[in-house]
Amino acid sequence: MHGRGLVVGNWKMNGLVAFGQTLAEEVCAGVAERERAARLACDVVLCPPFTSLLAVGHSLRGSSIRLGGQNLSEQEKGSFTGEISAAMLRDVGCSHVIVGHSERRTLLGESDACIARKMVAALREGLRPIVCLGESLQERQAGHTLTVIQRQLSAILSPLPAEGEQRTNWTVAYEPVWAIGTGQHATNAQIQEVHAFIRGQLSDFLGAPIASRIQILYGGSVTPTHAATIFSLPDVDGGLIGGASLTAASFLAIMDAYPAPLSTAE
Ligand code: PEP
Repeated sequence: MHGRGLVVGNWKMNGLVAFGQTLAEEVCAGVAERERAARLACDVVLCPPFTSLLAVGHSLRGSSIRLGGQNLSEQEKGSFTGEISAAMLRDVGCSHVIVGHSERRTLLGESDACIARKMVAALREGLRPIVCLGESLQERQAGHTLTVIQRQLSAILSPLPAEGEQRTNWTVAYEPVWAIGTGQHATNAQIQEVHAFIRGQLSDFLGAPIASRIQILYGGSVTPTHAATIFSLPDVDGGLIGGASLTAASFLAIMDAYPAPLSTAE
């Protein structure tokens, strides 16, 4: 049974401040309307570019929508030109941060170890990391998908503290690299296979009760057309949305696709 979901908009390097404010205001209005009608089954996070965080944060005031960064430094502070720390993200109102997006892994050479250090930096500051995992097309075609996911996942599980809320204060996003921004999303069977595998790994490492509380999002060319089918899969708890989060109408339609929890009454 699905619990409350999470839908995250990753705007990537798109839009100036005015664009971000307008988009955030439109999304806020749509979310408020759905909340008034009690028909929003998911939480919502917007991840604009760094330069728009403060302004978008202002646009989100009074709304349930949360703010997230798209990346952070593994360092706390100091001589790291161009970097943004976890404390700086908190300072402008972020509660979440995307860590290890495949574009950073492939284009900017972020390793599993670097991503693990970033996750720790985020958790230490009380930010909720949304950690991205996913195989390349070559890795899938070679039959290595689950091995890659296991490697990426074990890198971030090992540094987690033995107890405390940091063990649960994070989210996984499965994003097959070949499906991101390509218009080619994974099949339902491929998505469910990897999500169930991730849930199993989380359960082995953290125990079943914690594993059932960690949300596992799917990302990769999700659009309103097929979001409902993807969100109906048993181990999918929401979505990390790139292109379709850049217009309010499509992003709101994706939220609408998240299934309402089954009523336990009667
Ligand atoms: C992403 O950026 O994480 C993503 C999934 O992008 P898109 O939805 O455009 O494939």
